[in-house]
Amino acid sequence: MHGRGIWKNRLAQKGRTSSNDCGAFEALVGRNTFVNLIQESKSLFRLTRFGMVNCFLVREEDGLTLVDTGLAGSTVGILRAASALDSTICRIVLTHAHIDHVGSVDALLRELPASEFFVGQRESRLLTGDFTLDAGENGKKLLGFPGVKSRPNRCLNDGDRVGSLQTISSPGHTPGHMAYLDVRDGSLLAGDAFTTQTGVVAAGVLKLYFPFPWMFSWNRELAAESARKLHNVKPARLAVGHGKTIKSPLAAMDRAVELAFQQCGKMLD
Ligand SMILES: [Zn+2]
Repeated sequence: MHGRGIWKNRLAQKGRTSSNDCGAFEALVGRNTFVNLIQESKSLFRLTRFGMVNCFLVREEDGLTLVDTGLAGSTVGILRAASALDSTICRIVLTHAHIDHVGSVDALLRELPASEFFVGQRESRLLTGDFTLDAGENGKKLLGFPGVKSRPNRCLNDGDRVGSLQTISSPGHTPGHMAYLDVRDGSLLAGDAFTTQTGVVAAGVLKLYFPFPWMFSWNRELAAESARKLHNVKPARLAVGHGKTIKSPLAAMDRAVELAFQQCGKMLD
């Protein structure tokens, strides 16, 4: 199979034109696995499977940080993407513990024994199958958390740094959801706190033709508060688990936050 060669060549050609330019590269990375690799900025790359499940590679001086791991079976595609970028994954970071974000954690860490593994403190319990709620927490039944065998090297709290990524606690979609802001270029890796599949939508919002942000979100009031918190970070770029990356997303995020608060019956203060 020569798909990878084509991909690498196209990547190299793109690199010659401009290292800042963004472009899409397609790869056949395994018998039945089709992965699309899209350069979103100088240091941010989106890996997409099935046209709607994203994870991200963030280039750092010492290698790559992988944010989320996609569904099970994404390992080969992710590793080949890293090698196409002539780099190695040295850290794996999760936004949250849903099945389409943690599916390849264990397989990847088996292939990358030197890699470190990070997850939000509150979310880490969901990785072990502990669905108990803390005092004051409430929300829908927690579904879609398969758990993983691997244990994190470090659990993250709001404001912690992993390389260039600043952790932003953004609960609501799940109890311990985390977003990550690349402080170098203002790219916000928002996980499922927003989706862009059918326009910019905050987690917990019901749109009849795209009900997933509503169906799979745990607490929509908290999700609305977190969407506002992420808007107030004023990101230059919004990169999400489902949908394309949006440049200059503030106006669209603002509308999404407003709709999220309307649907909760809460007023923006
Ligand atoms: Zn999710």
